[in-house]
Order: sequence, then C-alpha cells, then structure tokens
Amino acid sequence: MVVTIVDRPTAAQAAAEMPAPDRALLEVALRLLEQRYVERRHEVAAAARLASGRVVTGLHVEASQGRASVCAESGVLSSAAAAGDEVRTLVAVLRRPGDPTPRVIEPCGVCAEILTDHCPDATVWVARDGAVAATSAADLLPYRHVRTGRLAPSRKDPA
Ligand SMILES: [Zn+2]
Repeated sequence: MVVTIVDRPTAAQAAAEMPAPDRALLEVALRLLEQRYVERRHEVAAAARLASGRVVTGLHVEASQGRASVCAESGVLSSAAAAGDEVRTLVAVLRRPGDPTPRVIEPCGVCAEILTDHCPDATVWVARDGAVAATSAADLLPYRHVRTGRLAPSRKDPA
C-alpha cells in the first residue's frame, strides 16, 4: 500500500501563487477560521465565489462520531444552494492542533463527490507537493462512480 503524505502549503505561500480574486477568497476563509477556530470542533473554513459574484463561507463542524462531521466545503455548497446560486471558485484552509499556521486543504472525497454533482466546472484550489493548484471539481475524482437516476436534474438542465 502506498501512503501519500500531502505537503500542504501555508496560506501565505498559497496566496503568492493565486490570482488576486482567488487570493481575496482565501483571505475570507482565513478570516473566518481565525474568528471561529476551536480545536477539534472547527478546524477548516472555506470560501467560494458564486456565479452571481457573491461570496459565501462554510465552517467545518466536528462530531463525536467522525462520519457525522460536516465539512466546510459542504457548508459552502449548502449556502450556494440556499442562495439559488452556483459555486464557481472554492478554497479551504485548515488549522491543525499543534500547527498554528493555516494551510490550504483540498476537499475530502465526500466533498469532491458532491461538488462534482453540483458544480463540476467550478475551480477548486488543492494542495499538492507544497504548492497549490487550481483544478475543476470534476477532475477531483477522475474515476468516480455515477449512480444514474439518483440526483434530480438542476433547474438549468435541459428537460
Ligand atoms: Zn469534506
């Protein structure tokens, strides 16, 4: 078995590699994490720009049963849906106990799945080899399983 250790860049390192509009999103996520960080409760914050240009955020909510936790990225997606809008660009930051430096983090598999379902063309910032890269949500899971008939069409899908 191959175990990959992801070397995540600090938010400051990531900011230097991002275009200004996405750097502004990163700063929104960082501000939220700084305001709401609680060890083992709220360790990830995400920010997204929607199709309308509006910016929404999401905050990780940890559960005593890990699987019941809510990711910051899923929170963002819910906010976008509540606004009747769609995510166009998303970035998330993580702060772990013992490391006070926030770092850019890629979506987990569950969030990659739901982002692909709802905004496959969205730009998602990911951490790789000590740097950040922008990819499409659809490229997060290249071999994902698709269950047909499970997800209702979006309002903009052709009938
Ligand atoms: Zn997730």
